[in-house]
Amino acid sequence: MQDSLQNSNYPLGDWANYHGHCFYCDGKEEPEVYVKNAIQSGMKVLGISSHAPVGFDTDWNMKEEKLPEYLDELSGLKQKYRNDIKLLTSMEVDYIPGETGPAHQRVVNSNLDYIVGSVHFVDAYKDGNHFSIDDSTEDFEKGLNQIFGGDIQKLVKRYFELQNEMLVKEPPHILGHMDKIRMHNRNRFFFNEKDDWYLDEVRGTMKLAAEKGVVVEINTKYFERANFSFPSRDHFKWMAEEKIPVTLNSDAHHPDKLLSGFKEILQMVEESGISELWHYHGNGQTFAPKKFNRNTIKW
Ligand SMILES: [Zn+2]
Ligand SMILES: [Zn+2]
Repeated sequence: MQDSLQNSNYPLGDWANYHGHCFYCDGKEEPEVYVKNAIQSGMKVLGISSHAPVGFDTDWNMKEEKLPEYLDELSGLKQKYRNDIKLLTSMEVDYIPGETGPAHQRVVNSNLDYIVGSVHFVDAYKDGNHFSIDDSTEDFEKGLNQIFGGDIQKLVKRYFELQNEMLVKEPPHILGHMDKIRMHNRNRFFFNEKDDWYLDEVRGTMKLAAEKGVVVEINTKYFERANFSFPSRDHFKWMAEEKIPVTLNSDAHHPDKLLSGFKEILQMVEESGISELWHYHGNGQTFAPKKFNRNTIKW
């Protein structure tokens, strides 16, 4: 592991990551491997956030019956490594109106340190199957055509509407990859990300998050493979001006990816004028801002 860390473009240092997966959902390897890698790379805080169960079968959500074991295992690891790292228990919770969300009983009963709230499903097909915007571009086109009559604005606006509804009705602590809907634009042109209607959606959601005390993550998962972040770097300067509370997360699905993309994105974030990243605090104020630069966080 140390070799692979040193050989990669890995930003060793006292970073934190609040969004990541493991083998309880669609991530590779057991949680302990992530914890060990985090300690080895000098990280100060690691939050593990497997995809919460959704009440129906998917390829990536945790199975309902696995939840108690997940919580037990993380609580054991917290104890075991308490002198080495602050390990936090979380889940990435889907918001599906009437079905699941950050306020769902199974989430509340899990007593998480904090919650990442994300929208991956936008409405459903006639047969009741949920439409995931996080699958292949072919699947995206299928949902776009069959549910939204091919009207991309309608689909994109519905995606942001669901995020806004979650922020108002069941606010999580962190809003996950808030413009993930645009990921298919890199394979095929679906809409212009500079159009006013689209910018209004992105900015409206970020402002609402700020108003509700929800931290907007800058998600670096696709940086290495696609030179991409969620939200897009196009918004960083505006986020700095509007003082949107942000944190940096890699959404790692592999223990070697805990800080994937951090180095490059940290530089962009710093240069855009964002001077604080929000970090877990506890004590009734779960996240609080900390000054940072591209080399370190002022813990
Ligand atoms: Zn996600
Ligand atoms: Zn995730």
